[in-house]
Amino acid sequence: MPKPSSERLEEMKKIPKIDLHRHLEGSLLPETILHLAQKHHISLPADSTAELRPFVQVTEQDQTLLDFIKKFDVLALLFKNKKIIQEITYQVIQEAFEDHVCYLELRFAPTYMSGYWHLNYHDIMEGVLEGYEQAKKEFPKMMTRFILIVNRESTLKSAEEMLKLALSYRNQDIVGIDLAGDEQNYPPELFQEIFQEAARSSLFITIHAGEARGAEAVQTAVEKCKAVRIGHGVRIAGNSKIETLIRDKEVYLEVCPTSNVQTGAVQTWEEHPIRHFIAEKIPITINTDDPGVSGITLSHEYALLLDFYKIPKETLSSFYHQAVNAAFLPQTEKEKLKKRFA
Ligand SMILES: [Zn+2]
Repeated sequence: MPKPSSERLEEMKKIPKIDLHRHLEGSLLPETILHLAQKHHISLPADSTAELRPFVQVTEQDQTLLDFIKKFDVLALLFKNKKIIQEITYQVIQEAFEDHVCYLELRFAPTYMSGYWHLNYHDIMEGVLEGYEQAKKEFPKMMTRFILIVNRESTLKSAEEMLKLALSYRNQDIVGIDLAGDEQNYPPELFQEIFQEAARSSLFITIHAGEARGAEAVQTAVEKCKAVRIGHGVRIAGNSKIETLIRDKEVYLEVCPTSNVQTGAVQTWEEHPIRHFIAEKIPITINTDDPGVSGITLSHEYALLLDFYKIPKETLSSFYHQAVNAAFLPQTEKEKLKKRFA
């Protein structure tokens, strides 16, 4: 993994940033995981940070999407009760705040979170929202919104349940809905009715697409599932028809450079299409995906863009403004955010 210099990291930390694609479940650092597990009497496969690290964070030995996903087997042990979910949510927002993220869209999958301890969805939602309330009081200048994830491996009935859940909490800052999981075996069209209904109900829609499957999955996500943003979408690079569609419809790609390499969405660091997207004026935003699992911060991703991809510093302000445009917020809130980046 290319390592940006500590001076560059510090410099990037000072810039106000926006993260639109971050998973609550993949955001914790190994030391925090250990601390929370001990506090809540959860046994993990290791009891020191060093030994736990390879179970919850990508290492040099991990090279595939499956290696990446495997980390979530251990992370699932954490979601034992409402209290720990509250603490996790607070911690994740705090870490973003400390990295100078001024607007965060945090996404989570209740079906995944309930998978190990069989916690009910209501307790999961309440845990997340209580952690959020606590963070709001502590960091009043930071804004956070939430996106509920429909798991691709789940049934249509369960997907419908997620939509209902999102709608029932929409006045508590649940603003959107996403589709995530095994893209290879579960293309977006399987869920098109659910997402069309979400669009009719004015929920914002983003869909993970063009990460494991090709550009046609992105087209389906936009045209059939009404996605206004695409999680990753890196596999559209070079497909001029889909690139034109994305540009014309102003659909924003949520690009997550380190994750894209770690999951194999792009084969090598050099092959990441970030510079191509900028040159072709494809609407993009820069995000972290799973900062804990990837062992990164948003400042790290920005530093990578400057130091490794040699993107000019002036471009950083355009990333901020594009992210404001792409945010799942009403115009009045967007105006406030615009003023933050002077
Ligand atoms: Zn993601």
